[in-house]
Amino acid sequence: MDGDFKDFLAFRRMVAPILLQILFWILVVLNIVGSIYLMTRGSYFVLLGLVNLIVETLIIRVIFELLIIFFRMNETLTEIKKNTGGAFAPLTPAYAPVGGSAPSKPMMGTPAVAPQPVQRTCPNCGAGVDEGLSFCSQCGQPMNQ
Ligand SMILES: [Zn+2]
Repeated sequence: MDGDFKDFLAFRRMVAPILLQILFWILVVLNIVGSIYLMTRGSYFVLLGLVNLIVETLIIRVIFELLIIFFRMNETLTEIKKNTGGAFAPLTPAYAPVGGSAPSKPMMGTPAVAPQPVQRTCPNCGAGVDEGLSFCSQCGQPMNQ
């Protein structure tokens, strides 16, 4: 409740989608009432009222759908932000090629995490040193085999 109110104050929680939905139903009810009133006048007004009911309800619906899309996007992003603890999930995995050519080999069977290079421990300072290095990157101690 308190969090919702803070979201409301910070414009993270929008009132507009709720108001738009209320306004949508008011307009639909008014349209139905107006169409029924037209139909009670008899003769060709019955058909006119029926067409009015279907066409106007659809037009109102489409207009409100377009309006609500903008607010729904914001709400969806807010939900994603909450679910990921403040950090947006990247759309593509970090190892996926971006804008480059498609990988020639299928991704199946490829380990998700690249294997760590083999490390030895420096006899002088105890730091991890990559297998290929001749000297410790921390203290410069020669790495004897
Ligand atoms: Zn060292």
